[in-house]
Amino acid sequence: MLELNNMLVRYGKHLAVDGVNISVEKGEVVVVLGANGAGKSSILKAIAGMVPVADGTISLDHTPITGMPAHQLTNRGIALVPEGRGIIGRMTVEENLRLGATPARARDYEDDTIAQVYDIFPRLHERKRQFVHTMSGGEQQMVAIGRAMMSKPDFLLLDEPSLGLAPIIVGDMFKALARVRKTGVGLLIVEQNVKISLRHADRGYLLEAGRITGSGTSDELMNDAAVRHAFLGGD
Ligand code: ATP
Repeated sequence: MLELNNMLVRYGKHLAVDGVNISVEKGEVVVVLGANGAGKSSILKAIAGMVPVADGTISLDHTPITGMPAHQLTNRGIALVPEGRGIIGRMTVEENLRLGATPARARDYEDDTIAQVYDIFPRLHERKRQFVHTMSGGEQQMVAIGRAMMSKPDFLLLDEPSLGLAPIIVGDMFKALARVRKTGVGLLIVEQNVKISLRHADRGYLLEAGRITGSGTSDELMNDAAVRHAFLGGD
């Protein structure tokens, strides 16, 4: 289990994440819903060791991992798919994917894992020799997810994976994420796209100005008056 306990993130005087408690089990899909600037990216970056945790703890299977450097966290099974994807346009699909297999825990399984990625994303297999900068936004997002899978994570953190994608592509991507979850990986997704992410998540949290203001199963949140008011335009 990945667990955040009263976690704080500060940028100078600005408190971006103000004491959040979030948990994700392996094989579970959990979404954090929040508007622009609510602190969603900061939560994921703190878990991945890319911004410092000012207070509170992060634990993985009850072992504290707070403050560990990013490469150690990758080796312990945490992978981030950043907003903007962080892939290398002037390399092919397969080259990008193989870059993801650098952690020690993943190296020996590289060929098996790439076969698994191609099974989940057949389109990447068809295009494995294509330069990534020539691909559509949806395909590039698949490369980013596939590359993170190459590190053999137990927990995959996804920063607004639907951003900038057409609705039909977003649906395909969430269906692919459902297959990733079936391999036993826990997914923590931050999103503004409430309807589709709740449709594919087990549980969710509401994040407003760095604080968790609500949580529940996807069904509960979908029917919650505050969620409907804040994100779904009333009723
Ligand atoms: P978005 O959807 O716009 O990315 P978000 O919910 O992911 O928003 P964060 O990116 O986590 O929000 O930002 C939370 C707050 O922290 C914002 O007010 C933002 O301006 C501020 N912030 C984020 N990164 C930094 C930084 N490196 N230095 C200073 N302030 C930052």
